[in-house]
Amino acid sequence: MKLVFLGPPGSGKGTYASRIAPKLGIAHVSTGDILREAAAAKTPIGLKADEYMKVGKPVPDKIMADIIKNRLKASDCINGFILDCPYNVAQAQAVDVVNRTRIDIALNMVVPQNVLIARLTARRVCQKCGEIYNLRTKILPKVEGICDKCGGLLIHREDDKEAAVKVRLAIYEERARLMLKYYAEKGKLVNIEWKKTDVPPGEVDIPPDIMVEKILKILRKFK
Ligand code: AMP
Repeated sequence: MKLVFLGPPGSGKGTYASRIAPKLGIAHVSTGDILREAAAAKTPIGLKADEYMKVGKPVPDKIMADIIKNRLKASDCINGFILDCPYNVAQAQAVDVVNRTRIDIALNMVVPQNVLIARLTARRVCQKCGEIYNLRTKILPKVEGICDKCGGLLIHREDDKEAAVKVRLAIYEERARLMLKYYAEKGKLVNIEWKKTDVPPGEVDIPPDIMVEKILKILRKFK
């Protein structure tokens, strides 16, 4: 299966993709991860991309198109992949060129704005290793403020504070609008809605396992 996962920051797409890909025996291809790997390997493209990532700007489409195309040709993508995620129509088209193309489904996570804000502002990140915790969903470290993995300090990133989160969500919406239209017009777009009725009693949010099951059920219908 060739899948694209779409959704705003905080929608859970990366978490769901990383759990679903192994269950389907396909690769999880995260554009952010590919870029970080290229930057760490100090390849010419990686170094160029790093200049944008450092300041939180999207990496230009021309660089992204090459990076995505190369990654999707790797052997672990032979049985399929979950791409998480193209930023715009130009990147979606680059994926389509590589596959000539049959993206089977573009799954779009639809989550209410207040839930996204609550999730993102509750994030705490390890300054040292990048491990993510969440005060809302109770993904907490054993010792308050200290990373379980490396002992680093947990911080509230500036771009996870409410004003910055609202800006990030608005930027996403603007960027994603035409891409959603692109997939909808191809008949590939499937929306996965966050529903209050899926929140278990006594919890504040839908646990990832429940969403993963919901997504797998939808995917089985398309197989
Ligand atoms: P992420 O890991 O998804 O939060 O992405 C980290 C950074 O990588 C972003 O702030 C962008 O600079 C860059 N990036 C990730 N994916 C893309 C993409 N599809 N297009 C352009 N830039 C991207």
